[in-house]
Amino acid sequence: MANRANHRVLLGYGLLCAAAFLCAETAGPSAAEGPATGSAMTLPVPAAGFPIASDARLAGDAKQTRFILDLDRTISFRAFALADPYRVILDIPQVNFKLAAGTGAAGRGLIKAFRYGLVMPGGSRIVFDLTGPAKIAKSYVLEAANEQPPRLVIEFEEVDRTAFVQLLAPENRPELRPAIADANAAVARADGSATAKPVQVNDTRPLIVIDPGHGGIDNGTQAGGGDVMEKNLVLGFGLALRDRIEKSGKYRVVMTRTDDTFIPLNDRVKVARSQSAALFVSIHADALPRHEGDAQGATIYTLSDKASDAEAERLAENENKSDAIGGVNLTDEPTEVADILIDLAQRETRTFSNRFARLLMGEMKNTARMHKHPLKSAGFRVLKAPDVPSVLVELGYVSNKGDLEHLVSDNWRTKTVGSMAQAIDAFFAKRLATAGAAK
Ligand code: ZN
Repeated sequence: MANRANHRVLLGYGLLCAAAFLCAETAGPSAAEGPATGSAMTLPVPAAGFPIASDARLAGDAKQTRFILDLDRTISFRAFALADPYRVILDIPQVNFKLAAGTGAAGRGLIKAFRYGLVMPGGSRIVFDLTGPAKIAKSYVLEAANEQPPRLVIEFEEVDRTAFVQLLAPENRPELRPAIADANAAVARADGSATAKPVQVNDTRPLIVIDPGHGGIDNGTQAGGGDVMEKNLVLGFGLALRDRIEKSGKYRVVMTRTDDTFIPLNDRVKVARSQSAALFVSIHADALPRHEGDAQGATIYTLSDKASDAEAERLAENENKSDAIGGVNLTDEPTEVADILIDLAQRETRTFSNRFARLLMGEMKNTARMHKHPLKSAGFRVLKAPDVPSVLVELGYVSNKGDLEHLVSDNWRTKTVGSMAQAIDAFFAKRLATAGAAK
């Protein structure tokens, strides 16, 4: 399901309007040429130095819709479009968004909704969900004038699908992927936190990758009208888990992200593979749509071709949407590997993944409330490393009152992190004992 959706995106990528590029060079280097090259991952300058966006609004109707962003200085930008679903992506330098909660949730005219956030150090992005095919008729940055702040203005105009498809010119396609060029760069960034130490070649301790889901422009599930976001909950949990298992001295730990940055799904897997990780733990929090009733408790997911039930299928579909939400171009995704050796490795990896999932359930049920069916499986893209045992933990439902109270509680987090650390100890104690016996 997810693969087919990706494929449709592939057919539809491209430029919406070359004019957007021509009028974009008002100040500084182009956003896309700077951060998107990926090879030079420089540290971002302090937050105080970033342009500030203070307001964003929509005007117009279903034929012509205008987006206006108020800034404290002019910025450069690049725009491109993706089809199926119709989206326009605006890449800008890193911006400090100081917009009212809920900004972008309600659309107008040609824009169904929009979201914004960091997609890489130095680079922010705004993704517009369109109600149908549209082109950028005009786009420009205005200097401050007449007591108005500097403004970024994008004017959308309705077109039919044929015209839209003609606008998609693959040969003009810029390098859109906000990703890091290779996994080493990803690890360098993942190691950018204060406590991370450089990986030593002769350090034979098992390496554990902790993967807080979502981030940056991708908020994940939300509660309380956007006050509680999955991306923040799971980052806090992931950092606490890292601190806890690093303290034991038995493991090396790498985070896929340590701040509010968007990381494409494939890069998360790459971090684990390039470092020959011994375990990959992805951390999430679920939400149930209101009409689907109430569900509660933590669930542990492993990879399978066929979802274990309808809820698992829905969840995997949602989690796999992350790249579409972030506006990632998926053209360089690897095709499904059908190699028999990979298949064998995968079978062994799945055995280990399932073993860890069972251990984790056994420990977590002592401290956390578990879902009534706590072990499930589905086709999560982030669990697809063929050689790294991987699980995805949904800590609970932000849509459930009791779960939400837990999820934001330090006490609950400390206890749950403790039970995860115990499961990790049990997993590696058994693996090391098995390895020792085999010698
Ligand atoms: Zn999630």
